[in-house]
Amino acid sequence: MKENYLGVDVSPLNYDELINALYNRLEEQQNSFIVAINPEKIMKAQQDTALRNLLNRADFQIPDGIGVILASRLKGGRIKSRVTGIDMMMRISEESVKRQKSVFLFGAKPGVAEEAKAGLERLYPGIQIAGTLNGYEKDPEVIKQTINDAKPDILFVAMGSPAQEYFIVDHMQELYPHIFQGVGGSFDVLSGRIKRAPEGFQRLGLEWFYRLLKEPKRIKRQMILPKFLLSVLKK
Ligand code: UDP
Repeated sequence: MKENYLGVDVSPLNYDELINALYNRLEEQQNSFIVAINPEKIMKAQQDTALRNLLNRADFQIPDGIGVILASRLKGGRIKSRVTGIDMMMRISEESVKRQKSVFLFGAKPGVAEEAKAGLERLYPGIQIAGTLNGYEKDPEVIKQTINDAKPDILFVAMGSPAQEYFIVDHMQELYPHIFQGVGGSFDVLSGRIKRAPEGFQRLGLEWFYRLLKEPKRIKRQMILPKFLLSVLKK
């Protein structure tokens, strides 16, 4: 059963449960759309009904962002730990090797998806990466043909939110893959162009704090967290 915070669904499944569900659905040629949920997106969806519908149309809303975990704790839910967009992408990629399924990388600046491909090949020897395309190609016909010609089973879209999610719902039916995930800035990380927070910060749920130290401007975005938790409590 999904949990729901301020009108937005969140899946309680952990990585292993998600991998099982995704690959079982893939075997049955059923489409799956994965979206990462955080307090920023939930708060944005309060004023934006189209965005709320979009998030709720996903098959798996993963609890990225410590705020969602805290909300679940406040409300007696069963979501205990984060499922981040980038780690989900890694787990799907790792499993794709075992299951002999192929992956396509669509998004980020020209050149970055190729570097992310090289990064994945280093991490998961034997991974089949059917193709890449930068996220500044905007012609839907070109995009569709490039992806479909490569016949990938899995599509990662890294164009930022919510553009990547709108792209997925608008085109999922006409695209060859069955697993679709919006992965934000993950190709930049996999390519080595951007660094993630050190493990220690990640383990303590303090990735947000590390990013704040690196980019003090983010304080404005992060002030959403207390507002979000208050709204959840009041409901
Ligand atoms: N991007 C893209 N096409 C666009 C705009 C952005 O491919 O038209 C890429 C951009 O190069 C970056 C990613 O989308 O790799 C956005 O990353 P960000 O970390 O901002 O995403 P978030 O996870 O915060 O939504």
